Amino acid sequence: MKKLSILLLVSVQMSLNAQDFVINASRVNDLMTALSAFKEEDNNSRVAFSDADLEGRAFVMQKMKEAGLEVSIDFSGNIIGRRAGLDNSLKPIVLGSHIDTVPEGGDYDGCVGSMAALEIAFTLQDLNITTRHPLEFIIYSNEEGGVMGSRALAGTLTEEAFKVVNSTGYSMGEGIVRLGGDPSRVKEVQRAEGSIAASFELHIEQGANLYQEDLEIGIVEGIVGIDWYDFRFGGFANHAGTTPMNNRQDALLAAAKFIQAVNEVALSVEGRHVCTVGRIQALPGAPNVIPGVVNLSLEIRDLSSEKMKSLFDMILERAKEIATTSNVEVTYESIDATGAPAMTDASLKKIIEAQINKKGYSYMYLPSGAGHDSQEMTRIGPAAMIFIPSVDGISHSPREYSTPKAIAQGTEVMFQTLLATDSSKKY
Ligand SMILES: [Zn+2]
Repeated sequence: MKKLSILLLVSVQMSLNAQDFVINASRVNDLMTALSAFKEEDNNSRVAFSDADLEGRAFVMQKMKEAGLEVSIDFSGNIIGRRAGLDNSLKPIVLGSHIDTVPEGGDYDGCVGSMAALEIAFTLQDLNITTRHPLEFIIYSNEEGGVMGSRALAGTLTEEAFKVVNSTGYSMGEGIVRLGGDPSRVKEVQRAEGSIAASFELHIEQGANLYQEDLEIGIVEGIVGIDWYDFRFGGFANHAGTTPMNNRQDALLAAAKFIQAVNEVALSVEGRHVCTVGRIQALPGAPNVIPGVVNLSLEIRDLSSEKMKSLFDMILERAKEIATTSNVEVTYESIDATGAPAMTDASLKKIIEAQINKKGYSYMYLPSGAGHDSQEMTRIGPAAMIFIPSVDGISHSPREYSTPKAIAQGTEVMFQTLLATDSSKKY
């Protein structure tokens, strides 16, 4: 375990002006530093089910208790800290994120939202505030392994997933037991649609929109949907030395034109969608053989399912043209998509925007290109996400970083948003 850097703590406190915040800006950053000490030494990470994950979770549960929360672990391994409201017949307001990381991950993805939620619990305790709604502070289990805990809550976690083994060597089923859950009873944690008043997640952007525009806060419009396809170009594998250039059926040449076309189609349409060819395999794969078969992937992400479909249609049109002019065949297959777009709640976004304006922070609306637990939470009730800038747009890397000031600002916005939502008659 790393020792806390005293120098770092001092510099954090100096760069933050306590009067700017109702939350405790130093404390939330100290919580970040303390959590970052729980790491697997061999890969500098806290992958779900690892010893480091268990130690990090124990730390969070201890802190939740200190903040006066009633702590439990549900059957899917989510940590839930409950705080009673003035009217416990109201549906709960949920705040949370995750503390598990990818292998070779960083200290901010998930951790910012988790420590911000914890800080808000401490602030409510400090100020002796009892909200109208009961509150739930949730550390979602195994986010990086397929938003496991939030899927369990949304009722979309299938038993097939329990066999999936992550980099720790534990299967999801074994992992749930390690976290204190029970795979045979996961179905029981499902929350009915409409059973929560609202859910909020603060998160690092994991992209560079805010950082490049020098903006302080992002209001997430929605979490993009992802469509996956496998494409196959079939030509004729022949001798590379004896087959003349004008008499070839080169599948790799056609695939190269296709990759170019995917990029051209994406750039020809207005918007923030992204289209990517990320994997390619040429067969037979020898320097002296004209490639006869090429398999490649196509991924399309956007907030609109219709737009994703129309982009795909345009790409398919180009693929057919290329196949014809290259004298090869093209086929494709739709792969089980990661998910449909999930829109955040319009009223909650307005509440967040109002709090940002009160604080005088700069902001923009933007989509989330990455998946999050909030994607699943939109299935249960109104959900919203707040982003803070990722320096240089880096994430899923030990170089991932957000400034202490940004973490404090994001926490403050989430705190003010919680109070405003709690006092609104609408919820
Ligand atoms: Zn995350």
